[in-house]
Amino acid sequence: MEFTTEKATAPRADAYDVVIVGGGASGLAAGVFVARYGLDAVIFDRGQSATCQCYTLENYLGFLGIDPAAFLELGRAHAQFEGCAVVDDMVSTVEGVDDGFRVETQDGKTVTTDSVIAASAYNADYLCDLDDGRFHDEGDHPVDCDEATGRTEIDGLYVAGWLSGGPHQVLISAGHGARVAKALVADRRAGEGYWEEVAAYWDWCVEDGTYGDDEWHRHVDEWFDGTVPDDCNEAFVEAVREEVKSERLAIQQTEAERRRRIERGKELLRWYLDER
Ligand SMILES: Cc1cc2nc3c(=O)[nH]c(=O)nc-3n(C[C@H](O)[C@H](O)[C@H](O)COP(=O)(O)OP(=O)(O)OC[C@H]3O[C@@H](n4cnc5c(N)ncnc54)[C@H](O)[C@@H]3O)c2cc1C
Repeated sequence: MEFTTEKATAPRADAYDVVIVGGGASGLAAGVFVARYGLDAVIFDRGQSATCQCYTLENYLGFLGIDPAAFLELGRAHAQFEGCAVVDDMVSTVEGVDDGFRVETQDGKTVTTDSVIAASAYNADYLCDLDDGRFHDEGDHPVDCDEATGRTEIDGLYVAGWLSGGPHQVLISAGHGARVAKALVADRRAGEGYWEEVAAYWDWCVEDGTYGDDEWHRHVDEWFDGTVPDDCNEAFVEAVREEVKSERLAIQQTEAERRRRIERGKELLRWYLDER
């Protein structure tokens, strides 16, 4: 199994579905969630995470006491394992372009993206050029957004973690990053015509055989039929029904797969402890 806690020195592409600014708890958790949905995502992270200001991290569920740097390294390994790139660079500006954003970095790289998640904790001055300077003023904190979902008045721009102005412990910031990522995925699905109930994204795992029998199909059909908006094209509704069912069927795992994935998690910890 290949793991890495190292950041890449440069992005591997010129265009991404999602750019995440900041690789602390919120940015890394957002990266895990969007990558698991299948979006092409990159995290730019440079500078000191507020997590490193915790002397020890003692209130993160499951960890009695963990070195904050180790927590971030494990989070980076996880995000990268799921397919989210993590690049050592600082975002200097985010500009709006047709259907998205252009992101420029301190090291002179430029990438375009459909969506940006600002997860940079203290500082979001790179947002000052957006909307002709009307959206964000230099030095302002937090960034104006819906605190629960991180959505902002600019389509495709989200704010996660401490920068959103919510309560900020590491565990809460990680949960917030995941929640913002879910809102972003739901918005993308809504853009494809999915209505609210079916636009929501669930990252669940269940035992093989839990779904798929006649009763399950009846149950899903009943729920699904109750959500369909009026005046929806029938062929599209049926296509969405099939897609929703296949998404749920795909989260099932066999016992062998479950064991393989749990072993993979242990392997990451063993690898990390052996390396350090
Ligand atoms: C002194 C102190 C002690 C604390 N103690 C605890 C504690 O014991 N337990 C606890 O749970 N919480 C504690 N916290 C709170 C916790 O650190 C934060 O809630 C948490 O780190 C916020 O996570 P975040 O992802 O929002 O930001 P961060 O973890 O700070 O991540 C933001 C990342 O973005 C990077 N960045 C910033 N700007 C850019 C840019 N333009 N381009 C690229 N990267 C950028 C930063 O360098 C950083 O790595 C403490 C905070 C402080 C200040």
